[in-house]
Order: sequence, then C-alpha cells, then structure tokens
Amino acid sequence: MIKVNNLQRSYGSKQVLKGVSFSVNQGEIFALLGANGAGKTTTIECLEGLRKWNVGEIEVEGVSVAKSPDKIRKILGIQLQSTALADNMTAKEAMQLFCAWHSVTYRGDLLERFDMGGEYLNKTYVSLSTGRKRRLHLALALCHRPRLLVLDEPTAGLDVEGRNTLHQEIRRLRDEGVTILMATHDMAEAETLSDYIAILRGGVIAREGTPMELTAASDIQSRVLVKTRNDSLREILPHGLEKLETTPEGYSVFKCKDAAELLLTLLPHIQKHGDTVTDLRVARASIEDIFLSVAGGAK
Ligand code: ATP
Repeated sequence: MIKVNNLQRSYGSKQVLKGVSFSVNQGEIFALLGANGAGKTTTIECLEGLRKWNVGEIEVEGVSVAKSPDKIRKILGIQLQSTALADNMTAKEAMQLFCAWHSVTYRGDLLERFDMGGEYLNKTYVSLSTGRKRRLHLALALCHRPRLLVLDEPTAGLDVEGRNTLHQEIRRLRDEGVTILMATHDMAEAETLSDYIAILRGGVIAREGTPMELTAASDIQSRVLVKTRNDSLREILPHGLEKLETTPEGYSVFKCKDAAELLLTLLPHIQKHGDTVTDLRVARASIEDIFLSVAGGAK
C-alpha cells in the first residue's frame, strides 16, 4: 500500500530524516513510533503531499506522491489537526464542505456512525469536547471512502473512555479493509492497536516488526514472579537459578530470556519440596522497554 524509500529531509542545516524506509501492507494498522521531534509529522506530511522532501521516493498503491499528488488525495484520508476548522462551523456544515471539496454526496451516515448526528449536528466546533472533535475529524477524513487513513497522534489528550472508543473505531475501519498509518509517541497505544510498528530514531527506522516480533526478539528479559504456599523458594533454589529479589508480598522474582524454560526448572523444584504455587505472573518486555532500549531513554 505504501512504500517509503530513503526519505531525507532537512530544515536549514538540521537533517531530520536521514534515509527513512518502510513499507505498509494493505489492511494493517501501522504505527510510526518516535519521541518528540523524531520526525513523525514530517514523514507523514511528506506522504500526504503536504511537505516537500530533499531525497527519496514515496509511493502509495504504486503511485508516486511527488509526481501525482492529485491521485494520492483520492486514495488518502487525512485527519485534520484540531485547529483546522473555524470555531463557529457546525459538524453538519463541516461535512457538507468536505463532501463538496471531494465532489461526493453528503455523508450524514458517517456523522451518525461516529456519534456526531442528532443533537451534535448543529453544534459549533468550538463547543465540542476534544473527544467529539476527534470523532468529527475522523468522519470528515472518511467522507470520500479513502483506502488509506493517515492519523497523527489520534488519541492525544483524550481520556481513557474516549481513547478506547477511538481505538475500537480504528480497529473497525481496519477490519473493513482501510489501511491505517498512524504516528504516535504513545507506546501503549502502538502496542495494543497496531499490527506493525516502526521506531523512528536518529532520522532512520531503528527497529521494526509486529509487536510480538519486537518484544520476542528483544534482549530485554522477562520477569517471572512466583508465590508459593510454604515459601520454599526463600532458601532453596534450583541449581543455576538466581533470584532477583523477594517482594514485600512474598513473590520470588526471577529475570530470564525464556520464561517457559525457567518454569520447566522451577515448577518441578517447588513440587519436589512439597510446596505448591499460589500465584504466578510473567511480565514480558513491553514496547516501551524496546523503545527505551532503542532510544536510549531520550530522543
Ligand atoms: P512530535 O511528537 O513532537 O510531534 P515529530 O516526531 O512529529 O514530533 P516533527 O514535527 O516532524 O517531529 O519535527 C522533527 C524536527 O524537525 C523537530 O526538531 C522540529 O523542531 C523540526 N521541524 C519541524 N518542522 C519544522 C519547520 N517547518 N521548520 C524548522 N524545523 C522544523
């Protein structure tokens, strides 16, 4: 669906993108993850044809963004920044405007779908909550039935409920066949929502893969927490196993690369000592752990 090859962009003497390359498959939610200032918006706006770049190629469905921006606009739905609509414009008027601009018939159905119909139709933009503004923007972005939706920080500033609602909508769109490219610095969002993640760091894609691949291939270790009835792990441990700590709640904590392997040693040992497991928790490396290991904890 999208091919970005060796994208380079400088602002003055500062080179922000130093050769960004990635591909997005049709029907997936792709997250471009990066710290503040990493160049996510720059990458996305180049792809949307809104910003020029110095070197590299971007293709959407095989169409060059540089050569045919008009064709790209038909394929692509763009979620606006929150300042993009006039304060006194109503949701209905905004939809009328967008549909006219794209030369399609009015899409009241989309406003209904995103719970922006009924009483919200004639409310002014400025009077809407942040969550409703986002929903309106999503509805507007979809008015011409784009095959690709590009979202920049889709849930920034939303409360938990607003965020979950929007996540559900984004997943529903993906299930209906819309490809979604989203820029975010929200690790949890990237981990739960996306099918594929690319981490932008130092002007290039520093790491990429499915959330599972990224966490499984990591050198960062999982933590295994075990609590037993007789506390047999307090003194005697299987040969070769080292305990990290015992928590105040009585959990023995182990660090390992392979939790399954550790448990194969640990569980028979506990049984052999006439003890039983009362609670077991495995905390895998998260996307945040991976991100921090790539980003060195900062930009
Ligand atoms: P954030 O998460 O904070 O939105 P981002 O990853 O989207 O960041 P960009 O907005 O693409 O990053 O900015 C990347 C870098 O380029 C930043 O250092 C920014 O200050 C700089 N930059 C962006 N736009 C311009 C511009 N028009 N002129 C000069 N510098 C710019």
